[in-house]
Amino acid sequence: MTGQHRIVVLGAGYAGLAAARRLASKAREAEITVVDARASFVERVRLHQQAAGQQISKWDLREMLANKNIHFVRARATQIDTEAKRVLLDSATALDYDTLVYALGSIADPNSVPGVAEHAYLLATPEDAGRFTAPRGTVVIVGGGATGIELAAELAETQPDSRVMLLGPDEPGAWLSTRARAHIRRVLERLGVEIRSDAKVIEVTGEGVRLADGSLIEAAATVWTAGFGVPDLAARSGLSVDRVGRVLTDASLRSLSHPDVYAAGDSAVIAGPGGRELRMACATALPTGKYAADAIATRLRGGEPVPLRFRYAVQCLSLGRRDGLIQFLHTDDSPRRTVLTGRTAAWVKEAVVRGAGWAARP
Ligand SMILES: Cc1cc2nc3c(=O)[nH]c(=O)nc-3n(C[C@H](O)[C@H](O)[C@H](O)COP(=O)(O)OP(=O)(O)OC[C@H]3O[C@@H](n4cnc5c(N)ncnc54)[C@H](O)[C@@H]3O)c2cc1C
Repeated sequence: MTGQHRIVVLGAGYAGLAAARRLASKAREAEITVVDARASFVERVRLHQQAAGQQISKWDLREMLANKNIHFVRARATQIDTEAKRVLLDSATALDYDTLVYALGSIADPNSVPGVAEHAYLLATPEDAGRFTAPRGTVVIVGGGATGIELAAELAETQPDSRVMLLGPDEPGAWLSTRARAHIRRVLERLGVEIRSDAKVIEVTGEGVRLADGSLIEAAATVWTAGFGVPDLAARSGLSVDRVGRVLTDASLRSLSHPDVYAAGDSAVIAGPGGRELRMACATALPTGKYAADAIATRLRGGEPVPLRFRYAVQCLSLGRRDGLIQFLHTDDSPRRTVLTGRTAAWVKEAVVRGAGWAARP
């Protein structure tokens, strides 16, 4: 090969920025270009705070990346021509690559049940969060996962004029330990959140949500947090993907079908301890972005990377600004009995979020 090795990183979220930052120090001989449809890095893990009316910070990507000699192209990638090794952009231009890092993250799945796309607010992107303003009446939040729980607590704490309901077919935080679930319920109820854990939503309408038992819960606004999808670019471009559209990777995060493509973060299928897939999380995106960069740098030097070894230690949830939950985890990501709660947990969670922002920003 002649000339500089060209590495294009698609996506400037936690995974893409962690990869680019690491490449800038570990693969100095390469030319690194980051592509993102947005001009700014927004802390996605704070979108529930934005939806509840709080200001969250933004960082200018071009400026941030220029400090590390990384090129930035603001554009939406519309196609990957894997034969020509070229990314086509919506700006009617194209970028040639020798190595591609695919880190396009995730989006809400508006097709989960009828009516979501037409009648529900979403919370997966800064644009989604920006569209939502808490009304005076009832806000129904669908989904008792981490996003639904964090939003319910944040809204109930900062928007006392809203009546907040959290609905799902299971107890909020069903995957967590008994003590964790009890703490979440206690805090949500203290904040005035009404919890329905027997509610399977089958349709969202202009009036509210319809449940599987035929009843209608009226809402001034419905927020859909149940179910995430991924951009379809990898699937449309012929990369091997799972049924959701995430890139299938080997133990060095290399695409199974295209060895010059690496994938990290929410838009990749990554094997974790005990045969479980790593989950969509900032806690996954940062280390896998870094690891992909290390693997690329090692191969550029003619070496062979050691397989990714990663485990989670804790899962952190905010419960408003004054309470939180830190769930300690076994190696295989299942919950231990130990949890940390209250103000200390809120403080730890805030420190983790800040740390993640610093880790991503070059
Ligand atoms: C409200 C909320 C709270 C959360 N809280 C936590 C938490 O506490 N802990 C945790 O671990 N995780 C949390 N998460 C999950 C976490 O935010 C994601 O897992 C993480 O952001 C994934 O990082 P990523 O780099 O893979 O993708 P993203 O951060 O989503 O970045 C993807 C980037 O790709 C860009 N992009 C997409 N398509 C294109 C395209 N075609 N062309 C160009 N650019 C494109 C986007 O603009 C974006 O900048 C939360 C998520 C939400 C929504």
